[in-house]
Amino acid sequence: MAKTLILIPLEADGTVGKAARDLLASALAADPGADVGVFGKGAKQAADVVPASASRVLVAGGDGLASPTAANDARACEALVRASGSQLVLAPQHSRTARCLPLVAVRTGGRIDTRVAGISLGAETKVRRWYYRQRMQAAFTREERPWFLLLESGALPAAEASAGFSGAVEEVSWEPCSRTQALGTEAAIAGEQTIRPDADLLLVAGAGWTKKQSDGQTHVPEAEELIRAFLRATGASLGSSKSLVDQKGEGAVISFLTHMNQVGQTGSSPRHPKGLATCCHGEEPHVVGWRFIGERRAINLDPNCGWAQGKADVLYVADAFAVLRRLNELLG
Ligand SMILES: Cc1cc2nc3c(=O)[nH]c(=O)nc-3n(C[C@H](O)[C@H](O)[C@H](O)COP(=O)(O)OP(=O)(O)OC[C@H]3O[C@@H](n4cnc5c(N)ncnc54)[C@H](O)[C@@H]3O)c2cc1C
Repeated sequence: MAKTLILIPLEADGTVGKAARDLLASALAADPGADVGVFGKGAKQAADVVPASASRVLVAGGDGLASPTAANDARACEALVRASGSQLVLAPQHSRTARCLPLVAVRTGGRIDTRVAGISLGAETKVRRWYYRQRMQAAFTREERPWFLLLESGALPAAEASAGFSGAVEEVSWEPCSRTQALGTEAAIAGEQTIRPDADLLLVAGAGWTKKQSDGQTHVPEAEELIRAFLRATGASLGSSKSLVDQKGEGAVISFLTHMNQVGQTGSSPRHPKGLATCCHGEEPHVVGWRFIGERRAINLDPNCGWAQGKADVLYVADAFAVLRRLNELLG
């Protein structure tokens, strides 16, 4: 099997994110003795999460990596890849690796495949990727090396590993590029970060939140407050149906939703252990985006809604306003 480097990006706060930690554990379980590379400001300290089974631990740090600029990240990663001499580079699908590793692949004469959904390591490493809006999956291998693979969470079987690497951590030098300066960060959604890929729960809001209720009135401000309070109390990620985000131009809207939240055929297919759909009918073009959600529950006034047709594990036939109000009370 080709020598492997597991490349770990640091988050803005200098920690290793959940997806990267999961990859570290599962890749070292599948390929014990792989090298581990960590990049980002404070990489040496952050490297203490590496498990004992790593062969070498290489780090690239320094002020130039405090903010994730592709130019500096690429230089640091290129230095790590060259120092390791590995032919296979595994990294989590992450905003940092997605921007800089294609550059590194070109500079090292290698190839890259992103959004890898599955991988089998061995004499002939094979990867699986989705095509045609996730309707078809292909398995393939490549001759070119080094081969860079950005792995989606769940691409390798889950494994547990605790920190314990006791060898010397090798600091790899790299040349920062002075042309790019980060001036600050701006949240993608004004004031509220609602898309949380690592959350255990996905809360989906449907167009029903903005429809006239039993009193003949709409209650959009209350809907906003209920959803917001639930997200704050649970740390859940927020998804939406297409109908709800499409209302942006029509007045009655949930202000912190954008098309980025849309789940479904023309939206995203997030991965969370659990999902709760509220005021959403459960139509097929929406539910197809739920295929990676483990346990599914829905709240709808209509006992004949789409969720009742075998698409949810549990359907609560109830008023979502009342249910979320009570849930928020229980959550404190
Ligand atoms: C090619 C194509 C691609 C599409 N892609 C997508 C996609 O990516 N994502 C997507 O979502 N849709 C997609 N759609 C649209 C999809 O078919 C549906 O129109 C859409 O999902 C409906 O959204 P909704 O369930 O929020 O709204 P509605 O169908 O209007 O349902 C609202 C629901 O809220 C319930 N409700 C109202 N008040 C309450 C209350 N107080 N408590 C509980 N329940 C209540 C109602 O009973 C109703 O079931 C696509 C369609 C096509 C043709």
